[in-house]
Amino acid sequence: MSVIGFIGLGAMGGGMAANLAKAGHEVRAFDLSEEALARAEAAGCVVASSAGDAGAGAEAVVTMLPAGRHVAEVHQGEVFDAASPGALLIDCSTIDVATARAVAEAAEARGFAMVDAPVSGGIAAANAGTLTFMVGGPPAAFERATPILEGMGRAVIRAGDAGAGQAAKICNNMLLGATMVATCEAFLLAEKLGLDPAVFYEISSKASGQSWSMTSYCPVPGVGPETPADRGYQGGFAAALMLKDLKLAIEAAQGANASTPMGAAAGALYQAMANAGDGRRDFSAMIRFLDGKTGA
Ligand code: NAD
Repeated sequence: MSVIGFIGLGAMGGGMAANLAKAGHEVRAFDLSEEALARAEAAGCVVASSAGDAGAGAEAVVTMLPAGRHVAEVHQGEVFDAASPGALLIDCSTIDVATARAVAEAAEARGFAMVDAPVSGGIAAANAGTLTFMVGGPPAAFERATPILEGMGRAVIRAGDAGAGQAAKICNNMLLGATMVATCEAFLLAEKLGLDPAVFYEISSKASGQSWSMTSYCPVPGVGPETPADRGYQGGFAAALMLKDLKLAIEAAQGANASTPMGAAAGALYQAMANAGDGRRDFSAMIRFLDGKTGA
């Protein structure tokens, strides 16, 4: 078992660090929040006094932070100076591809192996240890990261070189955002045309309009398997986080000169939903927003 530094113990990182401790690793955990540190300690982690302290002497350092600037600051400001030569750096945050590549390049120049390993699956999967990791980085670093990531998830897939994990994550979530908006539109139109939503589900889930947004995450309460729609659109994947991922996808598309009009349209709609005060609702609450309903 390894000594692992873990930085960022929020909604996702808290459960992930706890699972690494449960798997028998010595986890040296750090977060700016005292509350998060206390939870990590109760879950079997050793509290570190700074990001550098968490990284010092560790064989691997995992980060689960809000955005690219936090990842760059923590690595360039502390981890690069404190970590042992050759340590493996694993960034699981969802960040922009350009920053992921720049930090990986800087890490390599300092003699570290680094992978970007963003996740699919929300807080429940982080707690249960059932995340899917999409990994970008050299094959040797991927091999070293795999047993550690397996302690927090059930699928670990190499997407390519540095930044490829982030690219896979934002392309997947752009597709998810667009199919969710389209699914919500279709249910609203079906209803206005006099179709029972359960009947439309029965037909479309077996026809060519089928998608994960329809059959695994149906936005209509009482239709299909249980989803956040059945819980007043609470829990699940917040619209604000979908908006974050769509913004990353749109920014990446501009940088790569790729045409993504559906991603841009989904981004504008999730922005409008967030502006209306519904950013904390599950992203399938788009169906309420499109129907002119916002707030409580
Ligand atoms: P969060 O805001 O709950 O947690 C982030 C944590 O990082 C906070 O506890 C914060 O105090 C800490 N932090 C910030 N700056 C720090 C620093 N300099 N040093 C140490 N700690 C610092 O966010 P989250 O929901 O856990 O998300 C983390 C990442 O995972 C994000 O990139 C997010 O996009 C991604 N993600 C989230 C979900 C989800 O459902 N919540 C799903 C998939 C991916």
